[in-house]
Amino acid sequence: MKIKKNDTVLVIAGKDRGKTGKVRFVYPAENKVIVEGVNMIKKHARANAQTRQGGIIEREAKLNASNVMILCSKCNKPARVGHKLLEDGKKVRFCRVCQEVLD
Ligand SMILES: [Zn+2]
Repeated sequence: MKIKKNDTVLVIAGKDRGKTGKVRFVYPAENKVIVEGVNMIKKHARANAQTRQGGIIEREAKLNASNVMILCSKCNKPARVGHKLLEDGKKVRFCRVCQEVLD
């Protein structure tokens, strides 16, 4: 999976298309991500000892990693991301638009 935690991504499909946000969690096995402020769902919470108060809470739901694109911090465009090997053998991601290394 090309997306990593703390990447800034652009949502390209679904009800939040066009929104951008920071990746908070990645689920490589499911190819899913959670993006800050994107794909919010309302959940009914029961009162418990910690919160003392029930009600409706909003939180982000997982969305498919194929519905987001990494926004390049250098050229600020949704980037097609490639991988390349550096001279020291380290594998890094880079932006195919401006060639900036993203890692
Ligand atoms: Zn770029």
